[in-house]
Formats: sequence, C-alpha cells, structure tokens
Amino acid sequence: MPSLQTGPSSDTAARSAELFARARAVTPGGVNSPVRAFNAVGGTPRFIRSAAGAWLTDVDGNEYVDLICSWGPMLLGHAHPEVQAAVQAAVGRGTSYGTPTEPEVLLAEEIVARTPIEEVRFVSSGTEATMSAIRLARGFTGRDVVVKFAGCYHGHVDALLASAGSGLATFAVPGTPGVPTSSTELTLVLPYNDRAAVERVFAEHGPRIACLITEAAPGNMGVVPPEPGFNEFLARTCRAHGALFISDEVMTGFRASRQGQWGLDGAVEGWAPDLMTFGKVMGGGFPAAAFGGRADVMRRLAPEGPVYQAGTLSGNPVATTAGLTTLQLATDEVYAHIGAAADTIRAAVAEALSAAGVPHVVQSTGTMFSVFFTDAPVRDFAGASTTDSAAYAAFFHAMLDQGVYLPPSAYEAWFLSAAHDDRAVQAVLDALPVAAAAAAARSTAGGH
Ligand SMILES: *Cc1c(COP(=O)(O)O)cnc(C)c1O
Repeated sequence: MPSLQTGPSSDTAARSAELFARARAVTPGGVNSPVRAFNAVGGTPRFIRSAAGAWLTDVDGNEYVDLICSWGPMLLGHAHPEVQAAVQAAVGRGTSYGTPTEPEVLLAEEIVARTPIEEVRFVSSGTEATMSAIRLARGFTGRDVVVKFAGCYHGHVDALLASAGSGLATFAVPGTPGVPTSSTELTLVLPYNDRAAVERVFAEHGPRIACLITEAAPGNMGVVPPEPGFNEFLARTCRAHGALFISDEVMTGFRASRQGQWGLDGAVEGWAPDLMTFGKVMGGGFPAAAFGGRADVMRRLAPEGPVYQAGTLSGNPVATTAGLTTLQLATDEVYAHIGAAADTIRAAVAEALSAAGVPHVVQSTGTMFSVFFTDAPVRDFAGASTTDSAAYAAFFHAMLDQGVYLPPSAYEAWFLSAAHDDRAVQAVLDALPVAAAAAAARSTAGGH
C-alpha cells in the first residue's frame, strides 16, 4: 500500500525505481530531457502520477511540495480548475485543425498588450522560438554573426550550443558532439555581465553581427540577475552597430513578474528589445512558445516577407487556450503572492544554511530565485561554477526524503506557484534544518 506519510525513504520509491529501469531499457537515460534523470544528484527520479496545486504525488503514493513547477510553466499551480475547464472545453472542440483559430488571436493580443513587442508568431517550444528569432535577425540584417553569453541557455539550437573559443573575440566551438564546427563558427560567446567584453567584440566584429541574444535574467546557470542597466546597455550597443537585440524571456516571461524581466528592469527606461522569445508560462503547461518584436522586423517573416518559418502544431488551439487562460488569471495578486512565498523560503534557506555553516549565495530576480553553495559572488557562469554540487546533492536528497521536490541540479532556479500556500511553504521550512545539516556534512568547506 502506498505510504502517504511525509518523509518517504528510498524504499518507498519501489515503483519509481521499477519504472526507471523499464524507461532506461527503451529511452536514453530513461528520460525525455536530461536533467530529469537525477544524474547531477544521483538516485532514482520520482515518477509523478498526478499533481494538484503545489503538490506532486508519485507512483508510490508519496507527496512532495513541488519547487520545480514544470521548470516554470505552472505559475498558477497544478490542475488549476479554470485552466482545466478551459482546456477540457477546447479538447471537446477538436485538438488541431491546421487552420487559423480564435484562441491564437486572443493570446497574441494578450502578449502584445503586456510586453513591448508589436507582433508575435507562435511555435511549440522555446528552442524553436530562439532558433527562429535568430534566423529572422539574420534575414533582416543580412548578417551572420550571433553573440551569446556563457551560461545562458536558449534551448538546444545548434548555433547556441557553443562554448567560448580560445579568446574573447574568437569564434565559438561546439558545446556538444553532434554540432558541426560550421554551426558555431559564426557564434561569439562572452562572459555574462561583462560590458567591456561586449564592447570589444562589437568593436572588432560589429559590421558582421546580426544579433545578440541573452536571457533577460539568466535562470539556467542558477539565477544570475543582470547588473543594473545591463540589458539596456546591450540594447543600445546593438542599436549603435545595426544589430538586433534578442531578449530571451522563455523562462522569465510572465514568471519573474507580470511582464517578465522586461517589466522589472526595462519598462520604465523607454527602451525595448528588437525581438523577444517566450515559452513556459505562456503555454500554461502545454507545448507553446513564441517569438515577437518590432513590426518592421516581424513583417520579414513568411508569408508576409521572405524569411521562412513554419510549424504543423504552431498556435495549437488547446495549447493557446491553456496559455491564454493562464495569462488572464495571472494578476498582480498572483505575482505578489508568489513573491511573498519566495521571500519567505529564500530567507529561511539562507538562515538554515548559515546556522549549519554552509557557504551560500541566494540570488533572485522577481519571483525566481536560486541557491548557490559557494561564498564567491555569482555574476557570471564562472562564478556559478564555483557552487559545491556535492553539498547540493546532499541537500537535495534530504529535502526529497522529507517531501520537497527541488530541481535535481545545483544550476537551476527554484519555482513557486500561486498555489504555494502556508501549508506548502511551511513544509519546505520544516525540512530545511535537516537538509542544511546534510549539506554541511558533505560541504567541501567542512561546515562547523
Ligand atoms: C527553457 C528555455 C528555453 C528552451 O525552451 P524549450 O521549450 O525547452 O525548448 C530557451 N530559453 C530559455 C531562457 C529557457 O529557460
């Protein structure tokens, strides 16, 4: 019989372990996206059977407070009744037609109303959004070179799975086997938050640069906020050189705040990115993503312009209905609630780790935050890389054993939802001292 008490130990993960073994026989690593496999923390990923509000239930019947929230999308919590009802009604009308539909128009209008973009095109994943935005930037400018930052993740686009070359202004090398050198030899990779490096590559390669793409606030190396004015500086630098500024808000969009990171650090400054990308929250838990921006740029896209881009399921009526309903319900109160819960958990994590003598840096942007197990400042990927991943793994498993499902990697943001009520937050707080002690025992800094 499933154990429903908190504090599941690994022997209550028998059914997850069995499914994981079967999954590994038929799927590489047993998962459909690498981080889910627990490689960074060890152990058996819990196979989730259902979720409601802030809680996950695994196939063994264990319950967990969810601090992954599907890596961001579940802003309102799982199985939100109004989103469920809208989705069920949409499914009842058929699931895909390959024709234009009303929900696409409504979601496009909602996104255009909330953000600085003038026109938007829907796709099915964040990867497609960034890939298409870069193609459009290249088509619009007639240039080839793309600039990105180390530690920023923009999906698994070949040209962006790149590592810095031997010098700052030298072209990148493939970041993974399978990406040909020809896919990264037009990519430049710079340290994040480094204005001098940006100025240098634009001075050297400016006339060839089609675009610079950045996470609006990096969340994929843990949360590393842009230093004040950094995004605006990037936009101005791009403009001065005739390149497009692409702000990737796949993670931060409608998550960091009601308007995303742009609403936090740009809305009042009178500037806007040329192109933006969205995903995660705007799909309401379905595969939907988007890129959009200046009308004169977007009008270069087929069928209005010559730059080709297409998708069989793009703008899918069920996915756009889920996204639209989610955005309509994502009021200022929702963000205020998530922000308050995030503040409480952040402060408690810092307190528990301090009490246990574990070095840590807690960073946030809007309602997103993450914890680095380091005492070095974290303003770029080199800083993020100093995190003690063995200490994090110990912390992670102690939390999991107490019924809290954290991201199974030290380099990920922690996500909350509007459904994280006092009971869920308290369950996280209650688990922290034991987890902090576990981290201290494994910390290379030695703890007390
Ligand atoms: C998740 C993410 C992507 C990729 O989105 P997928 O839907 O996983 O392809 C791109 N950019 C950022 C900033 C992301 O966080």
